[in-house]
Amino acid sequence: MPLTQSREILAASHLDNVRYAIRDLACVADEVTKQGHKILALNIGDPITFDFATPPHLIEAVYKAMRDGKNGYAPSEGIRQALESIRGEAARKGISSVQNVFVTTGVSECVDICLSALLNPGENILTPCPDYPLYSAVLAKLGVELNTYYLNEEDGWQPDIEDIRKKITPRTRAIVLIDPNNPTGSVCSRQMLQQIAELARRHNLVILADEIYDKLILDDDQHISIASVAPDVPVVTFGGLSKNYLAPGWRIGWGIVSGDSAVKPYADGIVRLLRARLCANHPEQYAIKAALEGPQDHLVGVLAKLRSRRDLTMNWCRSTPRVSCVSPRGAFYAYPSIDIPERDDVFVKELIMQKHVMVVHGSGFGQKPGTQHFRIVFLPDEKTLSAAFQAIGDFLRERYG
Ligand code: PLP
Repeated sequence: MPLTQSREILAASHLDNVRYAIRDLACVADEVTKQGHKILALNIGDPITFDFATPPHLIEAVYKAMRDGKNGYAPSEGIRQALESIRGEAARKGISSVQNVFVTTGVSECVDICLSALLNPGENILTPCPDYPLYSAVLAKLGVELNTYYLNEEDGWQPDIEDIRKKITPRTRAIVLIDPNNPTGSVCSRQMLQQIAELARRHNLVILADEIYDKLILDDDQHISIASVAPDVPVVTFGGLSKNYLAPGWRIGWGIVSGDSAVKPYADGIVRLLRARLCANHPEQYAIKAALEGPQDHLVGVLAKLRSRRDLTMNWCRSTPRVSCVSPRGAFYAYPSIDIPERDDVFVKELIMQKHVMVVHGSGFGQKPGTQHFRIVFLPDEKTLSAAFQAIGDFLRERYG
């Protein structure tokens, strides 16, 4: 007898909290594209979509590895030459108390493994608001409640240290720091890093330092790794090839565990999970040495483009009514606040439908109640950015006066 009742297979209910606004907007964009319009995409943090190219010596290294038969499984923690290069990079970043290093399938897998290896039911970690949505998605998967601290727009989007202090509970295990920051483009000051490290020290917290944009610093200041200012504190510093080395599709990231010996049981837990998932992409790991120890010339061109595009973005923000923006100092994102009488997700959807420009709404990253923002990716060339800004300006005027 055929079954006639509905046999819908429901997804786990803890996924209800998983949001990924950046990709969710793609459905609206698909609709607009089907109608024959070209979308100006200011929403994707993938340099390869624009006029940036993976450095050829990295491609050669991967190609050679494939030709040399490096196509089987790799060691779970990563191939030896890559691990040595990551240790060298840790030293250049001033991280002196390295306990372990490992390679992952992008920083994304590093985040997943580091959170999964740390958290018991009922515990929490402090994540920034606004945040990069992967953190809250992984926490939802683990059934861990969000405990967010604000980044302070009035203070150039530096972490609000008083808010962090207030939100530490007896069950808090870690503080996530994204520096340089996505979505705000802020870069932490040394003083801020010292204050965060002091809180971690006092409350026995791990610091998870996402430094995937650490070479994309747009002003004269130098990026400082929090692990370098607090060698005794347990820190996992995340890095990878996606942004600094323009190879996001290769899915190569890494973690550097540092701190005194108290961090060892946690480091061992991470290794257990690394073994369970076998390994990261094998041939692509051969690009790590090429990237970290080879020529860095590509960064000169990348930074020149990003500075020019950041400046163009800021000039537009300064001259456009209803828009104001803290100038980004790192990465390739700007996070302007908008003064409009409706929700920013409505603004963003209407902007896609009416002007075919795609940005991401602030509510997709989290923001203080009563504020509205949108995130601009300023990777596109000046011509594309100018056309997009013209369209957003027109839209703001036509819709809100
Ligand atoms: N962390 C941050 C702050 C990011 O912005 C991104 C990607 O945009 C990632 C992690 C993910 O990086 P990966 O491509 O290495 O997985």
